[in-house]
Amino acid sequence: MQLFEKLIDYPDAERLVLENVPRPREENLPLVDARGLVLARDLSARFDSPPFDNSAVDGYAVRSADAEAGRTFAVVDEAPAGRPSKKSVGEGEAIKIFTGGVIPTGADAVVMVENTSGWGETFDLKKFASPGQNIRDRGGDVREGDVILRSGTEIGAPEIALAATQGYGELPVYRRPKVVVLSTGTELVTPGERDLSPGEIYDSNSFATMSQAREAGAEARRLHAASDDADVLRDALREALETADVVVTSGGVSVGEKDLVKSTLLELGVDQVFWGVKFKPGKPLFFGKRDDVRFFGLPGNPVSAMVCFELFVRPALMRMMGREDRRRPHISVYFDEDVSNSFGRMHAMRVTLERTERGWRAESVGAQGSGLVSSLTKADALALIGPESEGIRAGESVEAIVLRDEILL
Ligand code: AMP
Ligand code: MG
Repeated sequence: MQLFEKLIDYPDAERLVLENVPRPREENLPLVDARGLVLARDLSARFDSPPFDNSAVDGYAVRSADAEAGRTFAVVDEAPAGRPSKKSVGEGEAIKIFTGGVIPTGADAVVMVENTSGWGETFDLKKFASPGQNIRDRGGDVREGDVILRSGTEIGAPEIALAATQGYGELPVYRRPKVVVLSTGTELVTPGERDLSPGEIYDSNSFATMSQAREAGAEARRLHAASDDADVLRDALREALETADVVVTSGGVSVGEKDLVKSTLLELGVDQVFWGVKFKPGKPLFFGKRDDVRFFGLPGNPVSAMVCFELFVRPALMRMMGREDRRRPHISVYFDEDVSNSFGRMHAMRVTLERTERGWRAESVGAQGSGLVSSLTKADALALIGPESEGIRAGESVEAIVLRDEILL
């Protein structure tokens, strides 16, 4: 059995994780697959867009010099979108044109069909037209050479549309890290697989972790749950380390005899960055690295595992994808009652939030045991109590990490 050498504070642990995140890696992805990812390079316009002067309406292209009300025009050709007319517009002439059609040479205005006597071989103009009227200028959207999207931009539908107008079929983005999830514990059974035998429980952590990883934008894959047998664990960890950018395990990382994750990792060449954080729930968190792979050993207790993921793994995954807004929102909250903290370490307390005239009022979800999975379904935020103080007074401000962003809206 090995005891924690020294526990580090939450802010130090967060800093160490972020400092040790590998550089984001680039890949080119088809336009729509890039949605939600961050652009890795500036994107420039390859040409003026729109690429030619074109009509904003259905109507007739004319010379504005001729276009006084009451005049009759001869229609000499058509210019639908995608089929430019080869003719030019002379005095008293018009070319029938449709939205997006190329403005023919000679013409410098388009009159709307609504302002003419109709779609004939000739028409009478009912309202004068000024130069440039109803014409969308070449380059009116973007100019050749302009940076149209900056590196670091998160790609959404508007960015995809803009890149598409410039003919880009793929976008250079920071790729999603590959997360391999491995639960450890001889007691674990995969949900949906079979009924429990005495002493067994279902593996909930793998599924929570995978969901959290995907929510953060990563790719996530689950290995089977490994038993606490040393050989089984070693094989599973080796496979995880060989196929992942980030390995996230749960369980087996504390100080018990069956807690073999840390010693096995060290055996497999993983360097420990830290083990043990001065906070609750989640004290035994392990963080290490081997080459470009990062390793998070989350505690087995389901609440601890999920809270550690929120606090440490999620920001790391987001940074690996080049995202600046790596953290959940941090806000200031208060409680109506005194809140004690007798743990001697920071307590990330599960709370509900309510907006009041004084700000955000927090209230404990109730029992805070780290095995109480149901408590997490009730929590809006984690209020950070301590570690120095023995608690906080009613009305005092304290920092909280919002887990459900939508509550802020
Ligand atoms: P450990 O950190 O391995 O000592 O586990 C602490 C507690 O969390 C024990 O009660 C385990 O049974 C439980 N636990 C460990 N892994 C999981 C898991 N994947 N899903 C649900 N509970 C777990
Ligand atoms: Mg265990």
